[in-house]
Amino acid sequence: MRYVRPSTTQEAAALLESEPGVAYVLAGGTDLLVRMKLGHIEPDLLVDIKHIPAMHAIAHSARGTRIGAAVSGAMLGEHKALARAWPGVVEATGLIGSDQVQSRCTMAGNLCNASPAADSVPALIAAGAKVVVVSSSGRRTVAVEKIPSGPGKTSLAAGEFIEAVILPARSPRSGDAYLRFTPRTEMDIAVASAGVNLTLARGRVASARVALGAVAPTAVLVPAAAKAIIGTRLDDDALGKLAAACSAACKPIDDKRGTIEYRTRIAGVLARRAARIAFQRAGGA
Ligand SMILES: Cc1cc2nc3c(=O)[nH]c(=O)nc-3n(C[C@H](O)[C@H](O)[C@H](O)COP(=O)(O)OP(=O)(O)OC[C@H]3O[C@@H](n4cnc5c(N)ncnc54)[C@H](O)[C@@H]3O)c2cc1C
Repeated sequence: MRYVRPSTTQEAAALLESEPGVAYVLAGGTDLLVRMKLGHIEPDLLVDIKHIPAMHAIAHSARGTRIGAAVSGAMLGEHKALARAWPGVVEATGLIGSDQVQSRCTMAGNLCNASPAADSVPALIAAGAKVVVVSSSGRRTVAVEKIPSGPGKTSLAAGEFIEAVILPARSPRSGDAYLRFTPRTEMDIAVASAGVNLTLARGRVASARVALGAVAPTAVLVPAAAKAIIGTRLDDDALGKLAAACSAACKPIDDKRGTIEYRTRIAGVLARRAARIAFQRAGGA
């Protein structure tokens, strides 16, 4: 196995494209190294993107915030402006693992590992985040929800990788929130989770996005749940319809961590609670 540390995105793309065997991007390694140690994968090439300076940048522009693919959970958590603008996204990423894991893990790695229970993913989908996908033939911008295609699978073609996550520019009177349920308070995987992002106008929800995690093969955007609260002041009736729409969107597995019935029910409960938090954060009464 070859391990390489390119210093530019172009170099990384060329390395991935020219590898005839099995190549993996290495970001924090908090999923990849575990899988290698367990013998689940045997890469021929590891391309470590942590040594590409541009991958560590967090840059603001009129179009939004561009977060390099090697930015760790810890770096994100320390970024005060980002935590103010997108508390749901930052808190979701902050739930990943321990302090040690936080110092390494990335949102792009969380997304590309493609676990249905990945914590940052529903929050990013609710935020309307996009990713910049790069390869030696160029760049394309893709909505976060289009990246995972099933447990452990992504829609990325061979040689493609994520260069950055883009959060849209924040409108005034907006708020987001992410909640997960885990049997333990720390170091556990979500049994179900929900991310909600909304913007208010004259005290009513003017726009919203709702996404769920751990209740289907991939994180899911639930437009019907957003529709249930748009135009409302987030009264109990609207919240009830949001919860029902979320439960209706669930296609969970039944395992020792949660039954289908349990996951389906708590997904609605979590979405309802997350919507209330997002509403308050947006300045709603
Ligand atoms: C103890 C422990 C606790 C954990 N707790 C949680 C938790 O609570 N919640 C949670 O969601 N996860 C958890 N995880 C899983 C893991 O930490 C996260 O999924 C993390 O975000 C992965 O990021 P990484 O940068 O370490 O990815 P890596 O391990 O480097 O990569 C993961 C996968 O994504 C690919 N990849 C990485 N970056 C890119 C890129 N830029 N473009 C294309 N492909 C890429 C890799 O090739 C690999 O297939 C935990 C892991 C451990 C070891």
